[in-house]
Amino acid sequence: MSGDGDFSRRCQQWLKGTLNSVEVLLTHSCTAALEMAAILCELKAGDEVIMPSFTHPSTANAVVLRGATPVFVDVRNDTFNIDENLIEPAVTPRTKAIVAVHYAGVGCEMAPIMDIARRHNLRVVEDAAQGILTRYSGRYLGTLGDIGALSFHETKNAISGEGGAILINNQRYADRAEIIREKGTNRTQFFRGEVDKYKWFDIGSSYLPGEIVAAFLLAQLEEVHDLTKRRIEIWRTYHQGLEELELAGLLTRPVIPPSCDHNGHLYYLVMPDPNARSRLIAGLRAREISAPFHYVPLHTSPAGLRFGRTFGCLPITERAGECLLRLPMWIGIEPHLDRIIGEISSIVHQ
Ligand SMILES: *Cc1c(COP(=O)(O)O)cnc(C)c1O
Repeated sequence: MSGDGDFSRRCQQWLKGTLNSVEVLLTHSCTAALEMAAILCELKAGDEVIMPSFTHPSTANAVVLRGATPVFVDVRNDTFNIDENLIEPAVTPRTKAIVAVHYAGVGCEMAPIMDIARRHNLRVVEDAAQGILTRYSGRYLGTLGDIGALSFHETKNAISGEGGAILINNQRYADRAEIIREKGTNRTQFFRGEVDKYKWFDIGSSYLPGEIVAAFLLAQLEEVHDLTKRRIEIWRTYHQGLEELELAGLLTRPVIPPSCDHNGHLYYLVMPDPNARSRLIAGLRAREISAPFHYVPLHTSPAGLRFGRTFGCLPITERAGECLLRLPMWIGIEPHLDRIIGEISSIVHQ
C-alpha cells in the first residue's frame, strides 16, 4: 500500500502517454509538486519568482519555503491569468523563474511567456492544478513550461481526495526529481533494480502518494475524457443561459481566448461591483444554491505582505477578488441548471 506500486506506475504511464510529457511522477498534492519544482529550480534566499497574486497560496508558499520572494503582478482583464505584458517589466537581476497559473483551466499566453523566459534565462513552472486536458496551441497545459504541476484534489476535474503530479518537460530535471520525491534518496532506482542499495544523495521529502490513492486515481483518469466532456456541456449551458444578462450589462461571463480550449473546470461570473456580488451570493444562498467567491489576492493577504513583493498596482486582481463568484459545477448538476440560471436572472433584475 506504500507508494510507487503498480497503480502509481499505471497512472504515471497514463499521464505521460496522454499529455505527452518527458517524465511524470505522482505526488500527494499539487502543493507537493510545486515544492518539488521550487527545489528543482534551485531557488534560494534573495531569488525572485514572478507570479500572479490571484492564485492559491501554494503557488507562493513553494517559493517562500526556499527563502525566495514571490513578486506579484496583475492578471489579464479577460481570463484572470497572469498578464504576460507585465512580466518583463518585473524582471530584475534576481529573477529566477515565472509561475504561470492557468486559472479556471484556461491557459496563460504561454508563447510570449516562454519567449520572455528564453531571453532572460528564466525557468517556467506551470501551476496547472485546474488545467488537466486543456490544450494551448495544441499542447496540453502542464507540458509547455520546464515543469508542470497538476492537482487531483477533490475539487478538481479528476480526483483522488488529495493528489497531484509533477510533469517534467525538460530532461535535465528528471533524475533529480526522482530523488527529491523519495526523501533525497535513489530508492526509485533501487526499486528498478539499477543499484544494489539506496543512499541519501540530496535534499528531499516524502512527496509520493500511497497505492490506495493511486488506485482511485487510475479509475478517475480512465474516465476523465468523459468527465471533461460533461463539465464542458454544463459550462456551455451556463454560458448560453447567462448571455442575455451580460448583454444587459448586469454581469460579465468568462472569456476563452482563441489560443486555447478549456476543460470546464469552473464557471464564474464577474459582477459590476462588490455589492452586486454580495447580493447575488446571498440571494442564491437563500435559494439553497452555493456560489462562493474565489481567491483573496495574495498581495493583500497577511503572508503575502510579509513574504512577497508587489509589482505596481494590481487593480484587475483586486476586482477579481471583490467581484468574481463561482457557480456550482459538478457532474450530475445538469437537471438543476435551468433553475439556477432562472434564479440568477431574477436576483440580478431586482
Ligand atoms: C487546487 C490548487 C492548488 C493546490 O492543489 P492541492 O492538490 O490541493 O495541493 C494549487 N494551485 C492552484 C491554482 C489550485 O487551483
